[in-house]
Amino acid sequence: MVCSGDETKLSENRFELSGEQIEEQKEYTRLAAALVEGRFAAPPKAFVHTFGCQGNVADGERLKGMLGQIGYEFTDDVTEADLVLYNTCAVREHAQDRVFGNVGALKGLKTQNRDMKIFLCGCMMQQPHVAEKIKKSYPFVDVVFGTNVIYKLPEFVYRSLKGGKMIIEIPAGDGNISEDMPIKRDSNFKAWLPIMYGCNNFCTYCVVPYVRGRERSRDPEKIVEEAKQLVKEGYKEITLLGQNVNSYGKCPDYGCNFAELLRRINDIDGDFIIRFMTSHPKDCTDELLETMARCDKVAKHLHLPFQSGSDRVLKMMNRGYTSEQYLSLLDKAYSLMPELSVTADVIVGFPGETYEDFEMTKSLVEKAGFTSMFTFIYSPREGTKASTMPDPVSAEEKSRWFKELLEMQERIAAERTAACVGKTFRALCEGRAKSGAIEARTSGNFIIEIPADDSVIGTFRDVKVTAAKTWMLYGDIT
Ligand code: SAH
Ligand code: SF4
Repeated sequence: MVCSGDETKLSENRFELSGEQIEEQKEYTRLAAALVEGRFAAPPKAFVHTFGCQGNVADGERLKGMLGQIGYEFTDDVTEADLVLYNTCAVREHAQDRVFGNVGALKGLKTQNRDMKIFLCGCMMQQPHVAEKIKKSYPFVDVVFGTNVIYKLPEFVYRSLKGGKMIIEIPAGDGNISEDMPIKRDSNFKAWLPIMYGCNNFCTYCVVPYVRGRERSRDPEKIVEEAKQLVKEGYKEITLLGQNVNSYGKCPDYGCNFAELLRRINDIDGDFIIRFMTSHPKDCTDELLETMARCDKVAKHLHLPFQSGSDRVLKMMNRGYTSEQYLSLLDKAYSLMPELSVTADVIVGFPGETYEDFEMTKSLVEKAGFTSMFTFIYSPREGTKASTMPDPVSAEEKSRWFKELLEMQERIAAERTAACVGKTFRALCEGRAKSGAIEARTSGNFIIEIPADDSVIGTFRDVKVTAAKTWMLYGDIT
C-alpha cells in the first residue's frame, strides 16, 4: 500500500477502516458494556498510562474514549484498578525497560486481585520479539495488541472479560486510519490533533517506521472539521501531530499539502493557537516557512530535529540533508520570523561517530541558537540498519560527550531566556507548577511562571517577563 509518485488524486482514503470494521467494534462496545454492567456493582476503574511521544498520548485519549463508552471510570492509582492498560513506546531501550519494570510490578497486584485485567499496547508491542518475551516471562498479562489494531480495544475488553488465555494480536501491515473514534481528552483547552500516521523515512537508527507502518495522511476536510469543532468547544491550543508533518498530504494525495492545511486551519474563526510537530528538515519548504510567518494563529515555534552536525553521520543516518542545508533553513526561518524559537532533537554516539563528528554537532548547536534541545544517547533498536553497524565508542565516552553538549545548550538556553526579560508575551495559562505559580506558554514555547489564581487557567494573557533562569521565565500579567 505504498503511495507511488504518479498516482492520481484520491477522493477516498484507502487506509481508512471500513464501515464493517467500525460497526463490529460498536457491537463489541455494546456487548462489553452489558458484561461490565452485570459484573460490577459500581463502575469499574481503569488505570491507563501512556509512554512516549504526543502521537502515543493522542492514541491514549482514544483508548480512554473507548473504555469510557464501555463504562469504565479512570483512576491514577494502579492498586485500585480493575483494568490496567500500558500504552508503550519503543523508540529507546530505556522506555522499554520502564514498561517491563512496571508490568513486572503488577504480578503482586494481580495475585491480590485475580480479576484485574492487564492490557499492553502501542509501539513496543508491535515488535514480535517483545510479544514473545511477554508471553514467556509475564504470563499473567491478559492482552497484548499492536498499533494496527488499537481500534479493536472494545473487542479485546469483551473477550478478556469472558476469560481464557492471553490474547496476542499484532498483525503486520502498513497501518490504518481510524476516524470517528470516541476521545476522552486530557485537557479542556489544549488538544492533540493527529493529521497523519506512520513514517516512510527509515532513518537508520529509528524503529518508528517498523512499528507505525507507512506514512498516511488524514482527509484534510475531516481535520479541518475536527479543528472547527475543537474551537467551538473552547479549545485554545491545537497541536497538529505526525512523525513528519511536512510531508502531510503526499499519500493519499488530496491536493492539500501541509502549508495549505495550516492556512485552512488558520482561517477558522476564533481565538486559538496552532502548533505542530514534528518537522523534518528535508521536507521543510520555503512555502511552509512563509505560511508560518503569515498565519497569525500559527505559533512561532519550530521543532526541527537535526540529529547530528556531521555530514558523514547524517548520511549514515539516512537523513537526506547536510548541516549547511540545515543551517541555511534556519537562516531563512529567522529572517522571515525574527521572533522564532527553534527547538531540536540530537543523537549522541551514533555507531561509528568520532569525536571529530561530535565536534561538528557542537559547532552546529553553537550557530543554531536553539531555545531548547532534546539530547539522546544512541540506543540500538532491533531490526534497524544502524543496529548492525560497528559501534566502537564506549558508553562512558558517549556519556561524556552527552554531558558536554548539555552544558553547552544550557549556556545557550540561558542566553535565550535572559534576552526575554523586559519583553511582554501573549501566553496561554496552562495550570499550576510545583512551585505553586501558574505556568503560561508563549507562542515560542517558553514557559513563564506567574503569580495568579486558577481563573486564568485556559486563557491567553499578556505577560511581562521580569526575571529568567536557564529554562524558565518569571513574570506578571500586565
Ligand atoms: N519523527 C520525529 C521523532 C522521532 S522519535 C522525527 O523524525 O524527528 C523522537 C526522537 O528520538 C528523534 O528525533 C531522535 O532524536 C530520537 N531517537 C529516535 N531513535 C533513536 C535511537 N535509536 N536512539 C536514540 N535516540 C533516538
Ligand atoms: Fe524515525 Fe526518521 Fe521517521 Fe522521525 S523521520 S520517525 S526519526 S524514521
